[in-house]
Amino acid sequence: MPQKELLLLAINPSPILDLMQRALSAAGYGVAIAYDRDGLNRSIQEAIPSLLVIGETFGRENGFSISAEMLERFPTLPIILYAEKDSAGLSKTALKAGLAGYLYPPLKISDIVEEVQRSLARARKLGDWLRREVKRTTSSLEQKVDLSEAERQKLEAIIGNIQDGVIVMDKSQKIILLNRAIQDIFNLNGINFAGKPLTTVIPNDDLRVLLGRADNTPLKYHEINFDDGRVFNAQYTPIPQIGAAITMQDISYLKELDRLKSDFIHTISHDLRSPLTSILGYAELVERTGPLTPNQQEFLRRLQSSIQHITTLVNDLLDLGRLDAGFDTRREVVHLENILKYSLDLYENQLKKKNIKLEVNIAAGLKPLRANPIRIRQMLDNLIGNAIKYTPAEGSVKINMAMEVDQIVIKVQDTGVGIPPEEQGRIFEKFYRASNAAKGAEGSGLGLAIVKTIVESHQGRVWVESAVGMGSTFIALLPSHE
Ligand code: ADP
Repeated sequence: MPQKELLLLAINPSPILDLMQRALSAAGYGVAIAYDRDGLNRSIQEAIPSLLVIGETFGRENGFSISAEMLERFPTLPIILYAEKDSAGLSKTALKAGLAGYLYPPLKISDIVEEVQRSLARARKLGDWLRREVKRTTSSLEQKVDLSEAERQKLEAIIGNIQDGVIVMDKSQKIILLNRAIQDIFNLNGINFAGKPLTTVIPNDDLRVLLGRADNTPLKYHEINFDDGRVFNAQYTPIPQIGAAITMQDISYLKELDRLKSDFIHTISHDLRSPLTSILGYAELVERTGPLTPNQQEFLRRLQSSIQHITTLVNDLLDLGRLDAGFDTRREVVHLENILKYSLDLYENQLKKKNIKLEVNIAAGLKPLRANPIRIRQMLDNLIGNAIKYTPAEGSVKINMAMEVDQIVIKVQDTGVGIPPEEQGRIFEKFYRASNAAKGAEGSGLGLAIVKTIVESHQGRVWVESAVGMGSTFIALLPSHE
């Protein structure tokens, strides 16, 4: 037998209450009666009636305010108000209060049953609609959740299996995702990292340096060194609306190759130096052994110039070897403007010869550096020498030195041939000469490699901004000495 629908009557004892009970029971409903406020609360809670009929006055309370309270708790419960008598405002007040209907004497049995049936039917419709809506919204939400969960899992699987290390973090550098490679690299297995700040989970100094400068410089990569000799190249990429990603590739084998190559070059350069000195010495002695014909003199001059050339190359190579090996530890307070004077003296003749206009701007209050003065001189010589070398006659070279917070910014700008964009990333490599160098400028491709090594050994950075045919600007940032 289907369960009867239960109706709750909260009406003070009266003939009307009896009438309603009888009428509704006869109509096939289950009827419960609440005699006071406690009974009403209990019945509503436990019996869960389908409809409530409440007196305009119940106990001593106002039926409207009890209804409002009930609707607050059970918004879909249909409530019919029974008033002692009809009044002009009754229907309005009932409507405003959100009641399902109202009854007042004189009452016929059919009035009662019809009002209850109508209210129940409406409530059922409302309930059906509500359930449908909830189902629809839930299923579309589920679909979305399913979709994004599936997408997330797919993405996680892809990132998880990439050989390179991948870290994804939010804007406040808290971890969103770390792949397996990163966990292996930093030995994080078993650590719960989600949502934690990256620098807390991975307290690595090199990583901190990368994060520290990621937002305010164009240089977004940094080498991460481990005590056991492993070296990784870490690249920082901002991701709009999410935060940023760091990818890491193991470059230990490249570093090892580089070291072997450097060792080899260093040994050869070292071994070449003594015979070169002796060739140069004997070449000078030849002139003293007797008068030479003009032809012999010309050949000897060419010989000496070539030996000088090779000697410069060998010295550059040895310098690089020493710098790479970290032998450059001399540090003293260096005033750049003094060193610049020596560099400019060196190039005075070349500037005149090519009629290149020189402009030097040194900001007032330029702080000194803690540096090796010989290396700083070498760095300036190379940058200024290149600016002159790669600038045609009648051009100009500007040298700027200024402070930017606690960094010294050195700019060497020329109006020369410029460097093609695709080659700009390579010019600091050893032996790399860009296509513009093929047009006659002599060199070995070591000058900028030396500049970069010197700048980096002083905790600085150097890069180029250049446009073909317009000129180049080399910018070096070096920390100042307080
Ligand atoms: P090089 O001995 O060839 O001058 P560097 O290492 O000093 O070697 O420079 C590497 C290359 O970068 C050069 O061969 C040249 O192609 C390019 N380069 C360096 N400085 C400049 C400059 N001021 N203007 C244009 N090209 C430059």
